[in-house]
Amino acid sequence: MRIPAGHLKNIPTPFYFYDMELLSHTLSVISEATKDTPDFHVHYAIKANANPKILKAIAEAGFGADCVSGGEIKAAVAAGFPAGKIVFAGVGKNDDEIRLGLEIGISCFNVESLPELEVISQLAVHAGKTANVALRINPNVDAHTHEKITTGLNENKFGIAMEDTLTAIDRAKELPNINYTGLHFHIGSQITDLTVYRHLCQRINNLQEQLEEKEITTSSINVGGGLGIDYENPQDHPIPDFKNYFHLFRSHLQLRTGQTLHFELGRSVVAQCGSLIAKVLYVKKGHSKQFLILDAGFTELIRPAMYQAYHQIENINRPASNPSEHYDVVGPICESSDIFGKEVFLPVSERGDLIALHSAGAYGEIMSSTYNCRSLPKSYFSSDFE
Ligand SMILES: *Cc1c(COP(=O)(O)O)cnc(C)c1O
Repeated sequence: MRIPAGHLKNIPTPFYFYDMELLSHTLSVISEATKDTPDFHVHYAIKANANPKILKAIAEAGFGADCVSGGEIKAAVAAGFPAGKIVFAGVGKNDDEIRLGLEIGISCFNVESLPELEVISQLAVHAGKTANVALRINPNVDAHTHEKITTGLNENKFGIAMEDTLTAIDRAKELPNINYTGLHFHIGSQITDLTVYRHLCQRINNLQEQLEEKEITTSSINVGGGLGIDYENPQDHPIPDFKNYFHLFRSHLQLRTGQTLHFELGRSVVAQCGSLIAKVLYVKKGHSKQFLILDAGFTELIRPAMYQAYHQIENINRPASNPSEHYDVVGPICESSDIFGKEVFLPVSERGDLIALHSAGAYGEIMSSTYNCRSLPKSYFSSDFE
Protein backbone atom coordinates (compact mmCIF):
# COMPACT_ATOMS: atom_id res chain seq x y z
CA MET A 1 0.00 0.00 0.00
CA ARG A 2 0.96 3.57 -0.64
CA ILE A 3 1.74 5.78 2.37
CA PRO A 4 2.06 9.50 1.68
CA ALA A 5 4.65 10.11 4.43
CA GLY A 6 4.85 13.82 3.57
CA HIS A 7 1.13 14.36 4.16
CA LEU A 8 1.11 12.42 7.39
CA LYS A 9 3.90 14.20 9.20
CA ASN A 10 1.76 16.85 10.88
CA ILE A 11 -1.00 14.53 12.06
CA PRO A 12 -0.90 13.65 15.78
CA THR A 13 0.06 9.99 16.24
CA PRO A 14 -0.87 7.20 16.65
CA PHE A 15 -3.56 6.83 14.00
CA TYR A 16 -4.85 4.42 11.38
CA PHE A 17 -4.28 5.20 7.73
CA TYR A 18 -6.46 3.50 5.10
CA ASP A 19 -5.63 3.21 1.42
CA MET A 20 -9.13 3.54 -0.05
CA GLU A 21 -7.90 2.80 -3.56
CA LEU A 22 -6.60 -0.57 -2.44
CA LEU A 23 -9.90 -1.26 -0.69
CA SER A 24 -11.84 -0.39 -3.79
CA HIS A 25 -9.54 -2.49 -5.96
CA THR A 26 -9.97 -5.44 -3.56
CA LEU A 27 -13.76 -5.09 -3.70
CA SER A 28 -13.75 -5.08 -7.49
CA VAL A 29 -11.55 -8.18 -7.62
CA ILE A 30 -14.12 -9.97 -5.41
CA SER A 31 -17.03 -8.77 -7.53
CA GLU A 32 -15.23 -9.81 -10.69
CA ALA A 33 -14.46 -13.28 -9.27
CA THR A 34 -18.12 -13.90 -8.38
CA LYS A 35 -19.94 -12.13 -11.22
CA ASP A 36 -20.54 -15.28 -13.27
CA THR A 37 -22.11 -17.09 -10.35
CA PRO A 38 -25.14 -15.03 -9.31
CA ASP A 39 -25.99 -17.59 -6.63
CA PHE A 40 -22.78 -16.58 -4.75
CA HIS A 41 -23.39 -13.88 -2.13
CA VAL A 42 -20.56 -12.21 -0.27
CA HIS A 43 -21.24 -10.72 3.17
CA TYR A 44 -18.54 -8.58 4.70
CA ALA A 45 -17.78 -9.62 8.31
CA ILE A 46 -18.22 -6.30 10.10
CA LYS A 47 -16.19 -7.42 13.10
CA ALA A 48 -12.93 -7.11 11.14
CA ASN A 49 -13.33 -3.35 10.82
CA ALA A 50 -16.44 -1.26 11.45
CA ASN A 51 -14.99 2.14 10.58
CA PRO A 52 -18.00 3.98 9.05
CA LYS A 53 -16.11 5.06 5.89
CA ILE A 54 -14.86 1.54 5.29
CA LEU A 55 -18.36 0.12 5.83
CA LYS A 56 -19.87 2.67 3.48
CA ALA A 57 -17.41 1.80 0.70
CA ILE A 58 -18.19 -1.92 1.10
CA ALA A 59 -21.95 -1.37 1.22
CA GLU A 60 -21.78 0.79 -1.91
CA ALA A 61 -19.95 -2.00 -3.71
CA GLY A 62 -23.08 -4.12 -3.20
CA PHE A 63 -21.88 -6.54 -0.52
CA GLY A 64 -24.02 -7.92 2.28
CA ALA A 65 -23.00 -7.84 5.94
CA ASP A 66 -22.21 -10.52 8.50
CA CYS A 67 -22.86 -9.28 12.03
CA VAL A 68 -22.10 -10.78 15.43
CA SER A 69 -23.89 -8.28 17.68
CA GLY A 70 -26.77 -5.83 17.76
CA GLY A 71 -24.24 -3.00 17.63
CA GLU A 72 -22.86 -4.41 14.39
CA ILE A 73 -26.37 -4.71 12.93
CA LYS A 74 -26.91 -1.01 13.72
CA ALA A 75 -23.54 -0.08 12.21
CA ALA A 76 -24.36 -2.09 9.09
CA VAL A 77 -27.75 -0.44 8.65
CA ALA A 78 -26.26 3.03 9.26
CA ALA A 79 -23.64 2.38 6.56
CA GLY A 80 -26.31 1.44 4.04
CA PHE A 81 -26.27 -2.37 4.02
CA PRO A 82 -29.83 -3.49 3.23
CA ALA A 83 -31.46 -5.57 6.00
CA GLY A 84 -32.17 -8.26 3.42
CA LYS A 85 -28.42 -8.83 3.03
CA ILE A 86 -27.57 -8.99 6.74
CA VAL A 87 -26.83 -12.29 8.45
CA PHE A 88 -26.41 -12.53 12.21
CA ALA A 89 -24.12 -15.03 13.94
CA GLY A 90 -22.81 -15.32 17.49
CA VAL A 91 -23.01 -17.85 20.32
CA GLY A 92 -24.51 -15.42 22.80
CA LYS A 93 -27.14 -13.32 21.08
CA ASN A 94 -29.12 -11.53 23.79
CA ASP A 95 -32.87 -10.92 23.67
CA ASP A 96 -32.56 -7.28 22.60
CA GLU A 97 -30.25 -8.23 19.76
CA ILE A 98 -32.62 -10.92 18.56
CA ARG A 99 -35.56 -8.51 18.75
CA LEU A 100 -33.57 -5.96 16.72
CA GLY A 101 -32.83 -8.55 14.04
CA LEU A 102 -36.51 -9.52 13.87
CA GLU A 103 -37.68 -5.93 13.79
CA ILE A 104 -35.50 -4.81 10.90
CA GLY A 105 -36.03 -8.11 9.06
CA ILE A 106 -32.47 -9.38 8.62
CA SER A 107 -32.07 -12.12 6.05
CA CYS A 108 -30.90 -14.86 8.41
CA PHE A 109 -30.04 -15.78 11.99
CA ASN A 110 -27.07 -18.14 12.06
CA VAL A 111 -28.07 -20.16 15.10
CA GLU A 112 -25.35 -21.69 17.22
CA SER A 113 -27.25 -23.81 19.77
CA LEU A 114 -30.64 -25.41 20.47
CA PRO A 115 -31.45 -23.16 23.44
CA GLU A 116 -30.86 -20.15 21.17
CA LEU A 117 -33.27 -21.59 18.60
CA GLU A 118 -36.01 -21.88 21.27
CA VAL A 119 -35.50 -18.27 22.36
CA ILE A 120 -35.59 -16.92 18.78
CA SER A 121 -38.85 -18.78 18.25
CA GLN A 122 -40.40 -17.33 21.44
CA LEU A 123 -39.32 -13.80 20.61
CA ALA A 124 -40.47 -14.15 16.99
CA VAL A 125 -43.92 -15.34 18.12
CA HIS A 126 -44.11 -12.40 20.48
CA ALA A 127 -43.09 -9.93 17.76
CA GLY A 128 -45.39 -11.50 15.19
CA LYS A 129 -42.43 -12.14 12.84
CA THR A 130 -40.87 -15.17 11.23
CA ALA A 131 -37.14 -15.71 11.63
CA ASN A 132 -35.14 -17.24 8.81
CA VAL A 133 -32.68 -19.56 10.44
CA ALA A 134 -29.49 -21.26 9.33
CA LEU A 135 -27.89 -23.72 11.72
CA ARG A 136 -24.20 -23.28 12.39
CA ILE A 137 -22.72 -26.74 12.17
CA ASN A 138 -19.30 -27.69 13.40
CA PRO A 139 -17.87 -29.68 10.50
CA ASN A 140 -14.85 -30.89 12.47
CA VAL A 141 -12.39 -29.57 9.93
CA ASP A 142 -9.00 -28.47 11.23
CA ALA A 143 -8.31 -25.00 9.85
CA HIS A 144 -4.52 -25.41 10.28
CA THR A 145 -4.28 -21.98 11.81
CA HIS A 146 -3.57 -20.43 15.21
CA GLU A 147 -5.40 -22.22 18.07
CA LYS A 148 -7.06 -19.00 19.18
CA ILE A 149 -8.69 -18.56 15.78
CA THR A 150 -9.68 -22.17 15.05
CA THR A 151 -13.40 -22.65 15.45
CA GLY A 152 -14.50 -25.66 13.39
CA LEU A 153 -13.35 -28.53 15.60
CA ASN A 154 -15.77 -30.55 17.71
CA GLU A 155 -16.66 -29.45 21.27
CA ASN A 156 -16.12 -25.82 20.69
CA LYS A 157 -18.23 -23.04 22.11
CA PHE A 158 -19.26 -22.31 18.51
CA GLY A 159 -21.99 -24.10 16.60
CA ILE A 160 -23.82 -27.41 16.75
CA ALA A 161 -21.99 -30.75 16.48
CA MET A 162 -22.26 -32.44 13.08
CA GLU A 163 -24.10 -35.49 14.51
CA ASP A 164 -26.78 -33.26 16.02
CA THR A 165 -27.67 -31.64 12.68
CA LEU A 166 -30.83 -33.66 12.03
CA THR A 167 -32.16 -33.20 15.56
CA ALA A 168 -31.59 -29.46 15.26
CA ILE A 169 -33.29 -29.23 11.86
CA ASP A 170 -36.26 -31.26 13.15
CA ARG A 171 -36.60 -28.92 16.09
CA ALA A 172 -36.32 -25.85 13.81
CA LYS A 173 -39.14 -27.24 11.66
CA GLU A 174 -41.36 -27.87 14.71
CA LEU A 175 -40.90 -24.51 16.34
CA PRO A 176 -43.37 -21.73 15.52
CA ASN A 177 -42.24 -18.67 13.56
CA ILE A 178 -38.96 -20.32 12.56
CA ASN A 179 -38.19 -20.88 8.91
CA TYR A 180 -35.31 -23.33 8.42
CA THR A 181 -33.36 -22.05 5.42
CA GLY A 182 -29.87 -23.41 5.56
CA LEU A 183 -26.60 -24.54 7.00
CA HIS A 184 -23.79 -22.32 8.17
CA PHE A 185 -20.12 -23.13 8.72
CA HIS A 186 -17.14 -21.08 9.81
CA ILE A 187 -14.00 -23.02 10.57
CA GLY A 188 -11.46 -20.40 11.55
CA SER A 189 -9.50 -17.42 10.41
CA GLN A 190 -6.27 -16.56 8.56
CA ILE A 191 -6.57 -19.78 6.54
CA THR A 192 -3.86 -19.88 3.89
CA ASP A 193 -3.99 -23.58 3.08
CA LEU A 194 -6.91 -23.81 0.65
CA THR A 195 -7.15 -27.62 0.99
CA VAL A 196 -8.87 -26.86 4.30
CA TYR A 197 -11.79 -25.46 2.29
CA ARG A 198 -11.81 -28.54 0.08
CA HIS A 199 -12.31 -30.67 3.18
CA LEU A 200 -15.11 -28.37 4.21
CA CYS A 201 -16.78 -28.82 0.80
CA GLN A 202 -16.56 -32.61 1.15
CA ARG A 203 -18.16 -32.49 4.61
CA ILE A 204 -20.95 -30.29 3.28
CA ASN A 205 -21.53 -32.56 0.26
CA ASN A 206 -21.86 -35.60 2.55
CA LEU A 207 -24.16 -33.80 4.90
CA GLN A 208 -26.36 -32.62 2.04
CA GLU A 209 -26.76 -36.20 0.86
CA GLN A 210 -27.84 -37.29 4.33
CA LEU A 211 -30.38 -34.49 4.51
CA GLU A 212 -31.77 -35.32 1.09
CA GLU A 213 -32.34 -38.91 2.17
CA LYS A 214 -34.63 -37.44 4.83
CA GLU A 215 -36.21 -35.16 2.22
CA ILE A 216 -35.02 -32.03 3.92
CA THR A 217 -34.74 -29.04 1.60
CA THR A 218 -31.98 -26.58 2.29
CA SER A 219 -32.07 -23.34 0.37
CA SER A 220 -28.79 -21.77 1.46
CA ILE A 221 -25.29 -22.86 2.35
CA ASN A 222 -22.99 -20.44 4.14
CA VAL A 223 -19.30 -21.32 4.26
CA GLY A 224 -18.27 -18.47 6.56
CA GLY A 225 -15.04 -16.56 6.15
CA GLY A 226 -11.46 -17.11 7.15
CA LEU A 227 -9.49 -16.58 3.95
CA GLY A 228 -5.99 -15.53 5.01
CA ILE A 229 -3.74 -12.75 3.80
CA ASP A 230 0.02 -12.36 3.35
CA TYR A 231 1.27 -10.63 6.49
CA GLU A 232 4.90 -11.37 5.60
CA ASN A 233 4.88 -9.70 2.25
CA PRO A 234 1.96 -7.29 1.88
CA GLN A 235 3.65 -5.27 -0.88
CA ASP A 236 3.79 -8.25 -3.23
CA HIS A 237 0.37 -9.66 -2.27
CA PRO A 238 -1.89 -6.74 -1.44
CA ILE A 239 -4.97 -8.67 -2.62
CA PRO A 240 -5.61 -12.33 -1.73
CA ASP A 241 -6.18 -14.86 -4.48
CA PHE A 242 -9.96 -14.53 -4.53
CA LYS A 243 -10.21 -16.05 -7.99
CA ASN A 244 -8.85 -19.39 -6.80
CA TYR A 245 -10.78 -19.23 -3.56
CA PHE A 246 -14.18 -18.84 -5.24
CA HIS A 247 -13.19 -21.27 -7.95
CA LEU A 248 -12.53 -23.92 -5.32
CA PHE A 249 -16.13 -23.73 -4.10
CA ARG A 250 -17.43 -23.66 -7.65
CA SER A 251 -15.61 -26.90 -8.42
CA HIS A 252 -15.87 -28.79 -5.12
CA LEU A 253 -19.15 -27.84 -3.53
CA GLN A 254 -22.19 -29.54 -5.04
CA LEU A 255 -24.82 -26.84 -4.88
CA ARG A 256 -28.38 -28.01 -5.55
CA THR A 257 -30.60 -26.20 -8.03
CA GLY A 258 -31.82 -22.93 -6.59
CA GLN A 259 -29.43 -23.08 -3.64
CA THR A 260 -27.50 -19.94 -2.77
CA LEU A 261 -23.94 -19.99 -1.47
CA HIS A 262 -22.93 -17.37 1.08
CA PHE A 263 -19.48 -16.20 2.13
CA GLU A 264 -18.54 -14.10 5.15
CA LEU A 265 -15.19 -12.54 4.43
CA GLY A 266 -13.62 -10.14 6.89
CA ARG A 267 -9.84 -10.06 7.10
CA SER A 268 -9.25 -10.77 3.40
CA VAL A 269 -11.32 -7.71 2.43
CA VAL A 270 -9.82 -5.06 4.70
CA ALA A 271 -6.53 -6.20 6.29
CA GLN A 272 -4.14 -4.93 3.65
CA CYS A 273 -5.71 -1.51 3.18
CA GLY A 274 -4.91 -0.34 6.72
CA SER A 275 -1.71 0.57 8.54
CA LEU A 276 -1.19 1.81 12.06
CA ILE A 277 1.08 4.85 12.04
CA ALA A 278 3.06 5.56 15.21
CA LYS A 279 5.94 7.79 16.18
CA VAL A 280 9.24 6.81 17.76
CA LEU A 281 9.27 8.36 21.22
CA TYR A 282 12.61 7.04 22.36
CA VAL A 283 15.49 4.97 21.08
CA LYS A 284 16.65 3.15 24.18
CA LYS A 285 20.02 1.48 23.99
CA GLY A 286 20.34 -1.49 26.29
CA HIS A 287 23.42 -3.66 26.82
CA SER A 288 22.60 -6.48 24.41
CA LYS A 289 19.74 -4.95 22.44
CA GLN A 290 18.10 -1.67 21.67
CA PHE A 291 14.47 -0.66 21.73
CA LEU A 292 12.32 1.59 19.62
CA ILE A 293 9.66 2.81 22.02
CA LEU A 294 6.61 3.88 20.03
CA ASP A 295 3.64 6.00 21.01
CA ALA A 296 1.31 3.15 19.93
CA GLY A 297 0.90 -0.09 21.83
CA PHE A 298 -1.48 -3.00 22.12
CA THR A 299 -4.21 -0.50 22.93
CA GLU A 300 -4.11 0.44 19.22
CA LEU A 301 -3.13 -2.95 17.74
CA ILE A 302 -3.57 -5.98 19.96
CA ARG A 303 -2.88 -8.80 17.49
CA PRO A 304 0.84 -9.22 18.29
CA ALA A 305 0.14 -9.38 22.05
CA MET A 306 -2.97 -11.56 21.72
CA TYR A 307 -2.06 -13.99 18.93
CA GLN A 308 1.70 -13.51 18.61
CA ALA A 309 0.78 -12.12 15.20
CA TYR A 310 3.37 -10.71 12.85
CA HIS A 311 2.95 -7.28 11.28
CA GLN A 312 5.52 -5.89 8.90
CA ILE A 313 7.13 -2.81 10.43
CA GLU A 314 8.49 0.02 8.29
CA ASN A 315 10.21 3.32 9.08
CA ILE A 316 8.43 5.45 6.51
CA ASN A 317 10.81 8.39 6.90
CA ARG A 318 13.98 6.53 6.00
CA PRO A 319 14.73 4.47 2.91
CA ALA A 320 15.19 0.75 3.56
CA SER A 321 18.57 1.03 1.80
CA ASN A 322 19.96 3.15 4.69
CA PRO A 323 22.37 1.51 7.17
CA SER A 324 20.15 -0.66 9.36
CA GLU A 325 20.18 -2.18 12.84
CA HIS A 326 18.10 -4.58 14.94
CA TYR A 327 15.50 -3.14 17.28
CA ASP A 328 12.86 -4.53 19.58
CA VAL A 329 9.86 -2.42 18.63
CA VAL A 330 7.65 -1.90 21.68
CA GLY A 331 4.71 0.16 22.91
CA PRO A 332 4.26 2.34 25.98
CA ILE A 333 1.70 0.14 27.80
CA CYS A 334 2.62 -1.16 31.24
CA GLU A 335 2.49 -4.84 30.27
CA SER A 336 5.43 -6.91 29.12
CA SER A 337 3.38 -8.35 26.25
CA ASP A 338 3.28 -4.91 24.65
CA ILE A 339 5.78 -5.77 21.91
CA PHE A 340 5.20 -5.36 18.18
CA GLY A 341 8.33 -7.13 17.02
CA LYS A 342 11.64 -8.44 18.30
CA GLU A 343 14.96 -8.02 16.49
CA VAL A 344 13.33 -6.06 13.68
CA PHE A 345 15.90 -4.94 11.10
CA LEU A 346 15.21 -1.27 10.39
CA PRO A 347 17.09 1.74 9.04
CA VAL A 348 18.83 3.56 11.90
CA SER A 349 15.91 5.38 13.51
CA GLU A 350 15.54 8.48 15.61
CA ARG A 351 13.04 10.07 17.93
CA GLY A 352 10.20 11.52 15.84
CA ASP A 353 10.39 9.02 12.97
CA LEU A 354 7.08 7.63 11.70
CA ILE A 355 6.70 3.87 11.89
CA ALA A 356 4.04 1.98 9.92
CA LEU A 357 2.67 -1.36 11.10
CA HIS A 358 1.25 -2.84 7.94
CA SER A 359 -1.66 -5.21 7.23
CA ALA A 360 -3.50 -3.74 10.19
CA GLY A 361 -6.85 -3.02 8.50
CA ALA A 362 -8.51 -6.08 10.04
CA TYR A 363 -8.85 -6.67 13.78
CA GLY A 364 -6.80 -3.49 14.36
CA GLU A 365 -8.71 -0.29 14.96
CA ILE A 366 -11.86 -2.18 15.93
CA MET A 367 -10.04 -3.95 18.78
CA SER A 368 -8.46 -0.81 20.18
CA SER A 369 -9.06 -0.02 23.84
CA THR A 370 -8.66 2.77 26.35
CA TYR A 371 -6.53 0.70 28.74
CA ASN A 372 -4.14 2.95 30.69
CA CYS A 373 -6.77 5.71 30.08
CA ARG A 374 -5.48 6.20 26.55
CA SER A 375 -7.55 7.81 23.78
CA LEU A 376 -8.87 5.68 20.95
CA PRO A 377 -6.90 6.14 17.71
CA LYS A 378 -8.28 8.36 14.94
CA SER A 379 -8.37 7.30 11.31
CA TYR A 380 -7.35 8.99 8.07
CA PHE A 381 -7.97 7.97 4.50
CA SER A 382 -5.94 8.24 1.32
CA SER A 383 -8.97 9.95 -0.20
CA ASP A 384 -8.51 12.82 2.33
CA PHE A 385 -5.20 13.75 0.69
CA GLU A 386 -6.17 13.78 -2.98
C1 LIG B 1 -15.01 -13.78 12.31
C2 LIG B 1 -16.04 -14.39 11.48
C3 LIG B 1 -15.97 -14.25 10.09
C4 LIG B 1 -14.87 -13.52 9.38
O1 LIG B 1 -13.64 -14.13 9.52
P1 LIG B 1 -12.37 -13.62 8.68
O2 LIG B 1 -11.31 -14.55 9.09
O3 LIG B 1 -12.11 -12.21 9.11
O4 LIG B 1 -12.71 -13.72 7.24
C5 LIG B 1 -16.99 -14.82 9.36
N1 LIG B 1 -18.00 -15.50 9.95
C6 LIG B 1 -18.08 -15.65 11.28
C7 LIG B 1 -19.22 -16.40 11.86
C8 LIG B 1 -17.11 -15.10 12.08
O5 LIG B 1 -17.19 -15.26 13.41
